[in-house]
Amino acid sequence: MPDDAGMRNMMNRRQFVRRAGLCGLASVAAVYLPGCVGDQADELADKPRRSIDAAREAADPCNDISQLTLDERAIRTTFNYEPRAKDPTKLCVSCNFWVLDPHGGLCGGCTLIKGPIHPKASCRSWAEKIRT
Ligand code: SF4
Repeated sequence: MPDDAGMRNMMNRRQFVRRAGLCGLASVAAVYLPGCVGDQADELADKPRRSIDAAREAADPCNDISQLTLDERAIRTTFNYEPRAKDPTKLCVSCNFWVLDPHGGLCGGCTLIKGPIHPKASCRSWAEKIRT
């Protein structure tokens, strides 16, 4: 008959074997049921990416107009600047007035409207880029 320490070791061994068995079943399921496990894995993998996208959307650096005067803000409103273009064929990045950030940042500029301009934004003065 095992003593107390021996019983604890036996319990630990039993727990280990039980857990190892569960892990083995999970591994087999992952190999033989890839569709089932894969869908769930894809969903789990997408979740953090969606959260990151939502956070980026919420913290749009191109929406910081705190440096603009009231008149400059009013012009932005008059041009109906939209941080995300409703028409994907009329993005700021493809507009003739778009100015790339010289430092390679996300936000560009505009020769008509002051302040940071998101490449996927738009406004009512969008004009097709003239290629030279
Ligand atoms: Fe964007 Fe309008 Fe400026 Fe064109 S004119 S870059 S659409 S803000």
